[in-house]
Amino acid sequence: MAATGRADLAEAPERLGSAPLVVRASRLVKVYGEGRSSVRALRGVDLEVRQAEFRAIMGPSGSGKSTLLHLLGGLDTPTGGTVRIGDVDLAALGDRERTLLRRRHMGFVFQFFNLLPTLTAEENVAFPLMLAGWDPGRYRRRVDELLDLVGLADRRRHLPQELSGGEQQRVAVARALVARPEIVLADEPTGNLDSASGEDILAIMRRSVEELRQTIVMVTHDPFAASAADRVLFMRDGLIVRERAGLSTGEILDEIKQLQPRRSA
Ligand code: ADP
Repeated sequence: MAATGRADLAEAPERLGSAPLVVRASRLVKVYGEGRSSVRALRGVDLEVRQAEFRAIMGPSGSGKSTLLHLLGGLDTPTGGTVRIGDVDLAALGDRERTLLRRRHMGFVFQFFNLLPTLTAEENVAFPLMLAGWDPGRYRRRVDELLDLVGLADRRRHLPQELSGGEQQRVAVARALVARPEIVLADEPTGNLDSASGEDILAIMRRSVEELRQTIVMVTHDPFAASAADRVLFMRDGLIVRERAGLSTGEILDEIKQLQPRRSA
């Protein structure tokens, strides 16, 4: 298939039906730097994600995956094009409004966890709810639920440094899900984990999609992780080149083999 910025939306799984669009990126361009040393990280990406959809983004290193995720989360601003979260155009918001939108509607799971080192596991999980001004009685129950969900109830009073990599990642997932954000953006959530911990994380993410109708956009290099998604979008050289639904791990591996980077500069 020829490279195109347009994702094929004809293959939506039945479960999603006509669920509302919660993320819409249109003609997204991102250029880093200026002049001869500038890098066109995104070259016109269109993307639509529905409520309760689990979407994976794959592609060679440098193809623009993290850049796209950062723009969708309002963590960086595009050079061109728009990102809409629900009906809100991120470009119409000031910094503070964007921060509030993130806090209220999004959860982030990044590879290096970003846990606060002086807070215990349960305090880290509670942190988004404290920021959102929940009263302690109400948030304690929710934190308990999430610690149970990720299987860390008995580690709740441990500091991050006293937890394994897999446990820290589970704390990060619990923290991302605790406020029941409509949208969860995950960058390599199973990176650096052993396969059992990775499978746990993916099972938790699938439950959050199916039971809580959360929407997940996940960047991953791991074909097994991507096979947990409803649809996988493949990027190359700053463009979406393909989008497929219901792929097995083997089929994803075959797709990746066809995606060797072509950019020479
Ligand atoms: P991926 O996540 O697919 O590995 P990235 O989105 O991180 O790709 O990067 C896409 C391109 O943009 C790469 O060529 C990368 O070197 C470049 N890039 C990413 N971030 C920056 C930055 N902050 N400054 C300059 N170039 C960047």
